[in-house]
Amino acid sequence: TSAGQALSGSLDASERTHFVLVPLMAQGHTIPMTDMACLLAKHGAQVSFITTPVNASRMAGFITHAAETGLTIQFVELHFPAVEFGLPDGCENADMLQSIDQFKNFMEACAALRDPLRAYLRQQHPSPTCIISDVSHWWTGDIAREFGIPRLSFNGFCGFAYLARIKEKYQSENYYSTTVLSNSVSVYTPVSNRYMIVHDNLLENVENENDIINFPGFPTPLELTKARCPGTISVNGVEQIRKNMNEEEMRSTDVVINTFQELEALYIESFEQITGKKVWTVGPMCLCNQDNNTMAARGNKASVDEAQCLRWLDSMKPGSVIFVSFGSLACTAPQQLVELGLGLEASKKPFIWVIKAGDKFPEVEEWLAEGFEERVKDRGLIIRGWAPQVMILWHKAIAGFMTHCGWNSTIEGICAGTPMITWPHFAEQFVNERLVVDVLKTGVEVGVKAVTQWGQEQTEVTVTRDAVETAVSKLMDKGEAAEEMRMRAKEFGVKARRALEEGGSSYNNINLLIQEMGNRANASG
Ligand code: UDP
Repeated sequence: TSAGQALSGSLDASERTHFVLVPLMAQGHTIPMTDMACLLAKHGAQVSFITTPVNASRMAGFITHAAETGLTIQFVELHFPAVEFGLPDGCENADMLQSIDQFKNFMEACAALRDPLRAYLRQQHPSPTCIISDVSHWWTGDIAREFGIPRLSFNGFCGFAYLARIKEKYQSENYYSTTVLSNSVSVYTPVSNRYMIVHDNLLENVENENDIINFPGFPTPLELTKARCPGTISVNGVEQIRKNMNEEEMRSTDVVINTFQELEALYIESFEQITGKKVWTVGPMCLCNQDNNTMAARGNKASVDEAQCLRWLDSMKPGSVIFVSFGSLACTAPQQLVELGLGLEASKKPFIWVIKAGDKFPEVEEWLAEGFEERVKDRGLIIRGWAPQVMILWHKAIAGFMTHCGWNSTIEGICAGTPMITWPHFAEQFVNERLVVDVLKTGVEVGVKAVTQWGQEQTEVTVTRDAVETAVSKLMDKGEAAEEMRMRAKEFGVKARRALEEGGSSYNNINLLIQEMGNRANASG
């Protein structure tokens, strides 16, 4: 029996709901959408997963897995017009952009997928029931209207960060949607259908970088220093794109979030109240990866031999290893990487360290080769390039996760039941840090004081080797406080898994989502 049939019973194709998933081609956005495709198919939906040749080759492992297990997912490879929009041939993912200035071209090339996607959908049976679109693909709104189907939005945030963003977003069109804080705080009131500015010039009136910004009306106290507020990602020429995105996001009535009720019910409830939108919590979606093969192939082909990596982990004591990884986009300065390495060395704990400096920072490679690797060879595994992150994180040898707090990494750490050392770089990562450290109380900060904007080079060491060593020892400490933190992390891990088990909150939500979209399609058709 295929996985799809197992849950959908005797549904035939004409009764199936057909979900169209349109991810942003950036790892932190595409990976959770592949997991979403897998979950929806397991629960009986037909899925069209929209991708491009380069991205499809990255997810070859997932595509094979889907075929082998009979998941009802159609991978739709559309030609990506990179060259036509002034990008290098084959530049089909945000992590392939040579500079932030290419972002506009990239977004325009994405928008050019509109006609090919429309043409594909016209030929489909069953015809599409709904589109789940990354918020950045504003142009999927037109397609949804043409087909008379809902467009649900997904942006990869957790509920906590979504809410922080909602409180400032809608009054202005002058910033890109990954902004968490800009100069104003506004509240959307569904009744009046308007956005009410409740706090203007929030950052402008704050002179000192260390002054505290409050988020008025947040369900629990949320404070960030001005320096930790990501502000606007400054990319030239994307004003119109932002405007389109914002307009389209206001129109979408439903939001899909990769989280689970038991983790952040308070913030999700508040989000629904403020925006009048329906939130579907269907996570942690990473939990659809159950065996080592699918975990290892997630997102890209790993640059390390998985079997060797597992042997290394098996050879370590349970709960002894620190896993260090900063996601797919964060750019840590070479001197900072060296300092981090020296901190790991000083901690005397075993570690796996994922480094993506590669060709960009040859000096880091030199430094690694000039003694560091040799000195730590008995207890340090360095992975250059793409790591099988989930496979590593969920291994019993892992004691803690030093993370940049991208939401996917954060929720993967939560599922692993692992305490975290938080090292945010940009975007909503500083808000996620507050969730982990202040609300869930399952992590310690390494102490990053200020944002480094995506695409901008960090130039100095801001986190010292001592800070790294201190954070590691706080996490591994034998004292009562650390023990409690580890216990809490374990409990969230258990709750996370329960949410996606039969009868769990997210499991039920996935079924309800499929049902509800089917009903809406029937009502309109
Ligand atoms: N990831 C991975 N191997 C790597 C780096 C990242 O598997 O070497 C995965 C990670 O498990 C997560 C995603 O890529 O699912 C990164 O998303 P996240 O939101 O954490 O960060 P971003 O890359 O968007 O900053």
